[in-house]
Amino acid sequence: MQETLKQLPSKAAEKHKENKKFFTKLKKKPPKHLDTLMVELHEAEFERTDCLTCANCCKTTGPLFTPKDVTRIAKHFRMKEQQFIETYLRVDEDNDYVLQSVPCTFLGADNYCSIYDVRPKACSEFPHTDRKKFQQISNLTLKNVAICPAAFNIVEEMKKRLPY
Ligand code: SF4
Ligand code: SF4
Repeated sequence: MQETLKQLPSKAAEKHKENKKFFTKLKKKPPKHLDTLMVELHEAEFERTDCLTCANCCKTTGPLFTPKDVTRIAKHFRMKEQQFIETYLRVDEDNDYVLQSVPCTFLGADNYCSIYDVRPKACSEFPHTDRKKFQQISNLTLKNVAICPAAFNIVEEMKKRLPY
């Protein structure tokens, strides 16, 4: 996995133009079965990929924390919400709460998430490859393929299955 992660940014950069073109076409004319196809590709990829050998999302990019995430996680730590925010979060340029630093402070050396059961919604949904109307998050996916080897593989498979 370490070698895969090392090569991922350059592999993603090589594919960027092709991927951008593909997503432009996908957005214009998404196929009717896109939602079911994405669930199929997502499930097949995560049968092969073990996130515990990777954790690259937790190490290199943090989630945003919704107000519900803050309430749930602060409660988990028996902290006041404001205290939780001041200890772990900052406000980013989009006015969202994000981690003060990466790797995520809740990530263990064994790649386990210490707040797994109450983790932010964005973490539980990452890399969002099984969400409905996948064409709507093309820009985000173009970035995620350079972070997440599973997202990279899913997009490669999409291009084979949906030859525009
Ligand atoms: S979601 Fe992607 S980046 Fe995150 S741990 Fe799994 S394979 Fe790695
Ligand atoms: S909260 Fe957990 S899943 Fe989310 S980035 Fe941190 S360690 Fe990863």
